[in-house]
Amino acid sequence: MNRIGLLETLSQENIEYCENCPLAPYTTFRIGGPAGLAVFPKSSGEAVKALGAVRSSGMRYLVLGNGSNVLIDDGGFDGAVVILTGMRAFSVGNGFITADAGLSLTRLASIAAANSLTGLEFAYGIPGTVGGGVYMNAGAYGGELAQIAVSSRWYDMETGEIGEYSGAEQDFSYRHSVYMNDRKIILSATFRLAPGERDKIGAAMDDYMSRRREKQPLELPSAGSVFKRGNGFITAKLIEDAGLKGRRVGDAEVSEKHAGFIVNRGKATSADVLGLIEVVKREIRDKFGKDIECEVRYIGS
Ligand SMILES: Cc1cc2nc3c(=O)[nH]c(=O)nc-3n(C[C@H](O)[C@H](O)[C@H](O)COP(=O)(O)OP(=O)(O)OC[C@H]3O[C@@H](n4cnc5c(N)ncnc54)[C@H](O)[C@@H]3O)c2cc1C
Repeated sequence: MNRIGLLETLSQENIEYCENCPLAPYTTFRIGGPAGLAVFPKSSGEAVKALGAVRSSGMRYLVLGNGSNVLIDDGGFDGAVVILTGMRAFSVGNGFITADAGLSLTRLASIAAANSLTGLEFAYGIPGTVGGGVYMNAGAYGGELAQIAVSSRWYDMETGEIGEYSGAEQDFSYRHSVYMNDRKIILSATFRLAPGERDKIGAAMDDYMSRRREKQPLELPSAGSVFKRGNGFITAKLIEDAGLKGRRVGDAEVSEKHAGFIVNRGKATSADVLGLIEVVKREIRDKFGKDIECEVRYIGS
């Protein structure tokens, strides 16, 4: 199937798509040029059909959740971008929640709270999706998805198969999962939670959210913490100690509120952010002899 065949399949299946689609609005950095094609499945069934058609077309592809951990190049993405935030179905039963990849982590945590289930409070306020969260093993305040994700269902872009990884097969570690090593797209995930008191769960979620509001520059576009936690050091503290708060390249700025964040002051380009990342890495190496690693994923054109 070529590109025309792909568009025909999407039209026949009534799956929403957009050609030459600007990607900046689909990222929390608000940065990124156009995708040749962006596809918006609204259910797991549509996602499988869309991914299958993209696979058959042989086009280069990228999957996005909420775009909250990516820096997309200003040149855009020469290929098909499948954006999963439209697939948001979930089910709850016997202490488990199964959710489609596009459901937001904040909504997932709220669903757990509404069902008096504890274990997802930490995820409240992480602006990603179930798929992006499992892919990155998102975590905060001592919790991470690895602790509760019992299984995840995938579509394999290499073979076209649908399957499931359970338990240790997901190979979670700090900001890492098995999905970083292969070409499988997460369709849904199942989380095991424990019975809890609704009021206590809600209070913990409110507490985490107010800590975020207090410490993070949520009023400006960003992709959260740009760098990974260091081995034996707190990266944001090192950046602050290096006097880098407020340092700018173009409209990209090391946040004055949280040194781990780079914020978009208005018209930041991907080159501005990449330039600033290099400045920060170099200064931390020169001042403290430490190498720091990016958590945000750069998507080249
Ligand atoms: C203000 C702010 C605060 C943040 N706080 C935290 C925090 O406390 N803890 C934390 O861990 N992160 C945090 N983040 C980063 C981010 O929200 C998480 O990494 C989140 O899990 C990313 O999810 P997403 O849906 O936005 O993924 P995206 O950014 O859309 O994608 C990230 C990567 O996952 C891949 N991917 C996405 N969906 C799928 C899928 N279904 N199958 C396979 N691959 C997929 C993408 O291809 C990409 O490589 C923060 C970000 C912001 C902007």
